[in-house]
Parts: sequence; C-alpha cells; structure tokens
Amino acid sequence: MTINPPAYKKILVAVDFSSSSKNIAARALDIARTHGAELTLLHAVEYLSPLSFGDELIPSPDWLLVEKQLVKQGEASLLTFAKEMQMTEAQRLVPSGSPSHEIVERAKALGIDLVVVGTHGRRGLQRLLGSTASSVINRAPCDVLAVRVEKE
Ligand code: AMP
Repeated sequence: MTINPPAYKKILVAVDFSSSSKNIAARALDIARTHGAELTLLHAVEYLSPLSFGDELIPSPDWLLVEKQLVKQGEASLLTFAKEMQMTEAQRLVPSGSPSHEIVERAKALGIDLVVVGTHGRRGLQRLLGSTASSVINRAPCDVLAVRVEKE
C-alpha cells in the first residue's frame, strides 16, 4: 500500500541572518517549488526592554523608539535577504519577541503546515539542538524541518 501525504501549502522559514540562513532558506525554497507552496520568511527582533527586567511599570517612549528602529532594520535586512535568495514573492514578517514564541504563534495564526528552522543559529553550536529549534519542535502545530547546521 502506498501512502501519499498531502503536499505542503504554506511554509514558514525562520531567518536569524547567521551564516547558515541562506542554506536553510534554500532548502525551504526547494520544498516550496516541489510542493507549489507559499513561503513566509520570519525574523524575530529579540529586544529586551527594561520592562523585561521589571525595572519600570510602563515602557518609556525612548525604549519603544529603539524597538521600532530595530524592527525597521529587521524589515530592511529581510527584504535584502529575500532579494538575494530570489524569494521576493514570499510574505515577510518581522515581529518583536522571542523567536520560538513568534514562530509558533505565527504558524498557528497563518495555518502554516511546515516550519523550517536551523538546528543552530547565532546562539552557539555547543548544544545538540539549538534552543529555538527544540522549542519549536515541541510546540509547533505542524511539521518542523530542522536543517542541519554544521560547525564552521
Ligand atoms: P538558535 O536557537 O539560536 O541556535 O537558532 C536555531 C534556529 O532558530 C536558527 O537557525 C533559525 O532558523 C531560528 N532562529 C533563531 N533566532 C531567530 C530569530 N531571531 N528570528 C527567526 N528565527 C530565528
């Protein structure tokens, strides 16, 4: 008996701009072409305002401005990345927050059926599986492809 799994329709790629990001995106692009799937690129801006440390009760306008600026930079970098990867058709998302949380919540909200992450990113290669990848694998509502990132 042959089982034919349904083709992926919506693929989300988690981009942290580390040196392996292009390999990870290329893998997602290849799968998207084969399956005729839509692509979404997501880069989460990890910004710790003083609120995160409980120093203030309300975010000061200065901190909100810094966060806005970081999101703007992230949007520009993601557009450059999409152009370099010939992925300008892809939807681009630059939320501010923890990467694993944003990846999982956006995947749920958008009805994503495959999330593509790297096994490791900027936060070091000493662990077997990076913290973002393991957290996404545990909590995602769909399949997750963890693309192997080798030590350089
Ligand atoms: P890490 O947990 O830093 O080892 O990262 C593992 C993988 O999670 C990376 O290869 C990316 O696919 C994804 N990732 C990490 N940080 C971010 C981020 N800020 N935005 C989007 N994806 C991320």
